[in-house]
Amino acid sequence: MSDDWALATRLVHEGGMRSQFGETSEAMFLTQGFVYKTAEEAAARFAGEAEGFVYSRYGNPTVAMFESRMAALEGAEACRATSSGMSAVTAALTAALKAGDHIVAAAALFGGCRYVVETYLPRFGVEATLVDGTDLAAWEAAVKPNTKAFFMESPTNPTLALVDIAGVAGIRDARAPEALVVVDNVFATALWQSPLKLGADLVVYSATKHIDGQGRCLGGAILGREEWIKDNLDIILRQTGPAMSPFNAWVLLKSLETLPLRIRAQTETAARLADALATHDAVKRVIYPGRDDHPQAELARRQMTGGSTLLAFSIAGGREEAFRVSNALRLIKLSNNLGDAKSLLTHPATTTHKNLAPEARLALGIDDGLLRLSVGLEDADDLIADLTQALDQARSGGRLAGE
Ligand SMILES: *Cc1c(COP(=O)(O)O)cnc(C)c1O
Repeated sequence: MSDDWALATRLVHEGGMRSQFGETSEAMFLTQGFVYKTAEEAAARFAGEAEGFVYSRYGNPTVAMFESRMAALEGAEACRATSSGMSAVTAALTAALKAGDHIVAAAALFGGCRYVVETYLPRFGVEATLVDGTDLAAWEAAVKPNTKAFFMESPTNPTLALVDIAGVAGIRDARAPEALVVVDNVFATALWQSPLKLGADLVVYSATKHIDGQGRCLGGAILGREEWIKDNLDIILRQTGPAMSPFNAWVLLKSLETLPLRIRAQTETAARLADALATHDAVKRVIYPGRDDHPQAELARRQMTGGSTLLAFSIAGGREEAFRVSNALRLIKLSNNLGDAKSLLTHPATTTHKNLAPEARLALGIDDGLLRLSVGLEDADDLIADLTQALDQARSGGRLAGE
């Protein structure tokens, strides 16, 4: 594959491995094992002296095609696919850390990520400090002599606050040069943010979200330098087994072909919805990284090349009115998932973030009126009409379930 070709071209062709049949569409290799012509060939593959697959927990042709295409998308030397976003995060962090090490992470994290950092890693002797991710001084103050990883997502779920990735990488350089900066890039997508270019060492994805883009398969990916991945990650992936299913890899591989088209369309619609919501008097505030009134608009312009397919907005009437808005929607579906072709709305305080103490929720900016919207591929005018009629109904005392 030519490195000169533009991203859109590479996402259609990169990593393709045609079988002897010359199929146009990439093949799905639903196989666990691989057959060797001779005992010597088996021995050579196991010794790492001959190219080739040995077992699908180690590698599989369809999964390898997905990994190559993902590496092209991210501009990374190497990619490893995993069964889910959470297995990608867990494998990356356990490969980077051991007992006695320390990790600094933003407090505003996807629920599973926060559990891994705050509860799971400490069970194995890793010390964790959670900081206000928007405050670079807090990142710096948390560094210790044994700090070996920095972990963040930006924009964060669900309040779309940003972390200055280059700023954290600068703190790593100055204070903990051996530590790895690990960025969960799900909310930004590779189209609008390139953490590796901002100084990060590893990027992790839940491929379940925008990469699939149609709400079907779970998947994850870890991207970074080939040497680090070969020396530190491969053994953990092989021996602990969070392998991606070849079926899921095939779905996700084909989805990468349309990723730029989908993300551009969804981002354009999200920006229009954010502007429309900002004019409605039932809405207290709209949070969207592409708007000038985002609290970190300057950072958004510096580190992102586009807005987001997600937006958050707070309903003036709190939880009850937020529920009334949710229940009055006709087109937009209620779901905690995101990155789907279908627009999905969730009330974080009672779903994805219900396990946080109320003070911890408020510290993250998750008030009882906050709604998070993942914008899909529907017509923008249809979505605006649906939101407007739901907000109007809620204002005039819409329905709560059971009423
Ligand atoms: C969904 C998500 C994950 C977890 O991914 P799964 O595929 O559900 O395991 C991690 N981080 C972020 C930001 C996510 O949105």
